[in-house]
Amino acid sequence: MLELKNYVNGEFVSAHDGQTLDDINPANGEVIATIPRSKANDVERAARAAEHAQKDWNATSLEQRIVWLDTIADALEQKHEAIAQAESLDTGKPISLARRVDASRSVENFRFFAAFGREQTEMTFKMEDATNFVHRNGLGVVGLITPWNLPLYLLSWKVAPALLMGNAIVAKPSELTPMTANILAETLDEINLPKGVFNLVHGLGPEVGQAILEHPSIKGISFTGGTATGRIVAATAAPLFKKLSLELGGKNATIVLDDADLDKAVPGAARAAFTNSGQVCLCGSRILVDSKIAEQFTSALVKEVESMRIGRPDEDATQIGTVISMEHLLKVESYIDLALTEGGTILTGGTRSMTGPLDHGENGAYLAPTVIGGLPHWSRCATEEIFGPVVTVHTFDSLAEATEIANATEYGLAGSIWTKDIEKGHALAKTIDTGIVWVNTWLHRDLRTPFGGVKNSGVGREGGQWSLGFFSETTNVCVMDSN
Ligand code: NAD
Repeated sequence: MLELKNYVNGEFVSAHDGQTLDDINPANGEVIATIPRSKANDVERAARAAEHAQKDWNATSLEQRIVWLDTIADALEQKHEAIAQAESLDTGKPISLARRVDASRSVENFRFFAAFGREQTEMTFKMEDATNFVHRNGLGVVGLITPWNLPLYLLSWKVAPALLMGNAIVAKPSELTPMTANILAETLDEINLPKGVFNLVHGLGPEVGQAILEHPSIKGISFTGGTATGRIVAATAAPLFKKLSLELGGKNATIVLDDADLDKAVPGAARAAFTNSGQVCLCGSRILVDSKIAEQFTSALVKEVESMRIGRPDEDATQIGTVISMEHLLKVESYIDLALTEGGTILTGGTRSMTGPLDHGENGAYLAPTVIGGLPHWSRCATEEIFGPVVTVHTFDSLAEATEIANATEYGLAGSIWTKDIEKGHALAKTIDTGIVWVNTWLHRDLRTPFGGVKNSGVGREGGQWSLGFFSETTNVCVMDSN
C-alpha cells in the first residue's frame, strides 16, 4: 500500500499532525493508499514556500518557462502507462479510457501551453503621440482545487498555464483520487523544478480546501468541482478580492433533430451520456429527441447501451467501469428510485451490474448504464446533476420547444445537437444558454477555445487566452513619444 505525502518546498512530507486518510479502490473497496489529512498549518507552510519561490519564478523569462513546460511534458510522457494505471485504480474508470483520455491529455496540456506560449506577442496600442505596452505578470501564488472525475487531466489543465504565466502553486486534488497528483509532484521533483514553485497539499475539502481559500498569500483560486462547493468557494474568496475561476456542474442536453443521421447520433448520444460512467461534467445526461423519430431513436439507443461492456477497470475490453465510490453509487441509485416515483420508466439498466465480474462482487461500485424514459422535463431527475451512468430521454415537437427544454435547468455548461442540416444546427446552438455546444460531435476539444459555463455551471473561462488571462495581472505602461 502506498503512503502518499504532501509535496512542500521540494520535499515529500506528512501532515504536521501525522493524520492520514484512506484512498479506496472503488472496484473492490480495498485501501490502496493513505494520504496526509492536512490542515491549515500545512497549507500555511505550502503558501509560505510558494510565496518565497514565486518571485524568482516570475522573474524567469517566458521562454524559460516554456522550456520547463516542454520538459514536464517529456517527463510525464515517459510515465504515460503509470498515470493511466493509477487513474484507473483510483477512479474505477476503464484502463483504455485512462490511457486514451486522462494520461494523454495530461501530457498534452503541458505541450499545448508551451506551444501557445511561444505564439504570444507583446500587446501594444499605438496612439498619435504615445504607445501603450501591456505587460503580463503572474498573480503570485494561486490555489488550484480539483475534483475526482478527471484527476490529472484537470489538475494539469490549471498547472500548465499557471506556471507559464509566472505563478507559484498550492494544489489540492480530490481526497478520493490523490494518486496522479503525486506522480506529477514526483515528476517535477525529478526534473528539479525550483523548490516551492509547485506545492501539493492533500486532505479534505472543508479542511485543506477551505484553508487555501482563506489564505491571504493566495491571490487567485481556480476551482473545478460541484456547484454547491463552488458557492462556498465564491462566498469565501470573493470578499477577500481573490481572482476566481469556477468550473462547476452541468446537466447538458443532447438534442437529436428529426433529420439526424442515426448511425452517428445514436452512438454519439450514448458516448456523451456514458463516457466515464456519466461522470464528466460535459456528459449529455438529458437526451431531447424530435417526437417524429423518438421511437426509432430510443430503441436504437437502448440496443447501443446494452452492447456496452461493463467490467473490471483493469481489463482492456472494459467500456464501463465503476462509479467513484459506494457512497456515490447510493446517491445515483437514489435518483433512479426517484425517477420511478416521478413517473419514469427504466428502459435499460438500473441494476448494479449486468455483467459485473464475480470476483469483485458487492464491494465494487458497478452500475449498469441506465436509460430512463417518460419523465417530465422539469422533474428533479431531469434537471438536477446526477453525475452517474443515468440518462433521461424526452421528446419535443418544435425547435422552439427543444430550446425551451434544453434551457430549463439551473445549469449551462455544454450540449450537443445532431442534424444533417449544419446551418439549422448552428442556429439552434445559439439559442441554448450554455458555454459550449457541439454539432454532430461531442467532447471534440481545441484547447485554444473558451471552456466554461453560464448560470450555475460556473464563472469565467479556461483554455488558450482565457487561461493566460486568468493566471496573470496586466500592467499598462503608456510611453509618450520622444518628439
Ligand atoms: P466537489 O465540489 O465535491 O469537490 C471538488 C474539490 O473541492 C475537491 O478537491 C474537494 O475536496 C474540494 N472541496 C470540497 N469542499 C471544499 C471547501 N469547503 N473549500 C474548498 N475546497 C473544497 O466535486 P467532486 O464531487 O469532486 O466533483 C464532481 C463535480 O465536479 C460535478 O459537479 C462535476 O460536474 C464538476 N466538474 C466540473 C467540471 C467543469 O469543468 N465545469 C469538470 C469536472 C467536474
